[in-house]
Amino acid sequence: MAAPWEDVLRNEPAIQEAASVAVDAALLEGVLMRTEGEPNASDVVNYAPFTLLPSAVPSVLFEQAYAVQQDFNLLVDAISQNKEFLEDTLASTIKVDDFTARLFRIHMQVLEEGLAQSVFLGINRSDYMFDCGVDGTPALKQIEINTIAASFGGLTSRTAAVHGQVLKMLGKSKEASRLLPNNPSKGLALGIAKAWELYGSQSAVVMFVVEEVQRNIFDQRCVENELWNRNIRVIRKRFRDVFEKGSLDDAKRLYMDGQEVAVVYYREGYVPKNYDQQNWEARLLLERSRAVKCPDIATQLAGTKKVQQELSRPGTLERLLPGRAEAVTRIRATFAGLYSLDVGEEGDKIAAMAIADPDQFVLKPQREGGGNNLYGEELRQVLEKIRDSPERTSYILMDKIKPQPAINYLLRAHSPLQVSECISELGIFGVYVRQGKEMVMNKAAGHLLRTKAIEHADGGVAAGVAVLDTPYLV
Ligand code: ADP
Ligand code: MG
Repeated sequence: MAAPWEDVLRNEPAIQEAASVAVDAALLEGVLMRTEGEPNASDVVNYAPFTLLPSAVPSVLFEQAYAVQQDFNLLVDAISQNKEFLEDTLASTIKVDDFTARLFRIHMQVLEEGLAQSVFLGINRSDYMFDCGVDGTPALKQIEINTIAASFGGLTSRTAAVHGQVLKMLGKSKEASRLLPNNPSKGLALGIAKAWELYGSQSAVVMFVVEEVQRNIFDQRCVENELWNRNIRVIRKRFRDVFEKGSLDDAKRLYMDGQEVAVVYYREGYVPKNYDQQNWEARLLLERSRAVKCPDIATQLAGTKKVQQELSRPGTLERLLPGRAEAVTRIRATFAGLYSLDVGEEGDKIAAMAIADPDQFVLKPQREGGGNNLYGEELRQVLEKIRDSPERTSYILMDKIKPQPAINYLLRAHSPLQVSECISELGIFGVYVRQGKEMVMNKAAGHLLRTKAIEHADGGVAAGVAVLDTPYLV
């Protein structure tokens, strides 16, 4: 899996020079983030962290990840429409996890009232690592699928140009010309635009639901601008604004400040800290509305870790995707070992197995956004402490994926240039639109490669651990 620039990696003067060119190129291309100090102003911005060099990705695994994306779109959509499956799967989790329980209550309330929404839009990102088997052959293994607020589809479209310039500077023009073009934000916007069109009101707007702290605004602007280019109006509002100014009419049409909203695109709302009581009420209002939610609450629940674990049980995929044996095979090939820790004999055995050999596993709570998983000694201690109490049910256990590290340099504002042993995570963006029972769009929309130093077990770009990267297919 070695990249063809091993020869320059230890040439310090060349690397130093390339790094300063890379940073300016990133700023010019718009690989930007607001700063920690001024997270809600664009007066001072900096580059989003990225690798100096592209990382090698086996082309067969890259193609495999693209080839299974439409299957994952179908699967997520099928789960979101399967009331019994979500109910059964999350029954034990919602007894102990208050956040999942609250989402689930909204889901049930909306179903009881009857869905006002008839057009459905899914934007997800399926994340993978390249597991290094005993014989050294890498295999594509899914880490998770993000069904809400999957980010970096915008900024990632700009890293190839930066890495291309770095490679040229280092005398690797041929390699530079092989970097793939990639523009997920365009694909995401096409999905949003399709949903907007099917909603069927020319004057209605698309509403991005955004965070209180908006450091990653430029990533979102990439999608917004694609919509403006299609003459679709975009507004940005927080849950708080929705609580104060949102309303439904008799037909459950959603209005914000008197403007009708066709599509609600959440870039917020996936972790407990996003919600106070008013924000929960705002979320309920949005979910009850006729507007197309991306995602609707059922699709958000389809992306929980507990659902992921249940999908790996023999027979579950077949039940969810009847008559699609090939899709089931492609999906299953990407699964790592996943285990239920529900109270009972099965869970006891699994917990004992993990306690005996903690370095082979990852313990995951029902949380998103990075930094929540437990590894090694910490994993063992937590499992020993909670033993067979119901709290154990709020976690799932997963085989630890072990990629082959590679050398790279991570560029981060205000940090010294340092060589690191790194591992990468590949994400593929999926977009689909369904009208009633009919799928009218189902696509893979582009990719995201994120890389981090091996000493960090967990955490994404927003969490300050991983950095943006570009795949170099080998
Ligand atoms: P989150 O929803 O918080 O992003 P993830 O399941 O994506 O949760 O895990 C966060 C990070 O932890 C991943 O980006 C990856 O670096 C690491 N990780 C997760 N699962 C595994 C695994 N099975 N093996 C190795 N590393 C993992
Ligand atoms: Mg993740």
